[in-house]
Amino acid sequence: MTDESRPKNSSDPLREKAWAVYRALLEAYGDPDWRCHWEPVDELILTILSANTNDKNSLRAFLALKERFHNDWDAVRTAPLEEIKEAIRPAGMYNQKAPRIVQALEKLKREVGEYSLDHLADMPVDEALKYLESFPGVGHKTASIVLLFCFRKGTFPVDTHVQRITQRLGLADPKASPAKIKAIWESLLPPETYYALHLNLIRHGREVCKAQNPRCEICVLQPHCDYFHGRGAWAG
Ligand code: SF4
Repeated sequence: MTDESRPKNSSDPLREKAWAVYRALLEAYGDPDWRCHWEPVDELILTILSANTNDKNSLRAFLALKERFHNDWDAVRTAPLEEIKEAIRPAGMYNQKAPRIVQALEKLKREVGEYSLDHLADMPVDEALKYLESFPGVGHKTASIVLLFCFRKGTFPVDTHVQRITQRLGLADPKASPAKIKAIWESLLPPETYYALHLNLIRHGREVCKAQNPRCEICVLQPHCDYFHGRGAWAG
């Protein structure tokens, strides 16, 4: 994504700031190649497992689940719940996550006839989001991740890092919800920017703009940051 797609003569300061943030992060971390790591159904199950835990633990649980049931989602769907809970234990909250996984697989089996989300490829993004959000335990973050990562659809996932940085920058109110922040980014930047922006914001949140003690002294977003300059909602 280059500056060519940027609207010329934008007089909207928030849009200018959003572009500046996007570009500064690209310069700092690069433009990640788009890669779909998993099949869409795998990504859906993995993101259900990722609630309230870190990537390492959710991946461990996901791989243990695949191994235990020999990559067979039908075997997971029909397995005793206790066996699923045991496999996904590293992800935590297994009492809630195991039934969610089974319900998601049952829904696919019932509505699609197989464990596939390929029908989302041709669906308009809003419809596809609604469809995924009808799965138990799937919110707009999970749904957006599946659509952006697996189908390159223009929807912007907001996790805790993206939320915190957006609020500190002053692009959103410090109390803005993830849904509001998603709508703000989507109103300011075009869909082609979402993949790189999402990954780079997460990296920035992990390495620099941490929840506790942000490392402002080395931050490339300093010039654009209300929190750093004590401006806007962070004044006083
Ligand atoms: S200047 Fe500080 S608060 Fe602002 S984005 Fe950078 S690390 Fe976060």
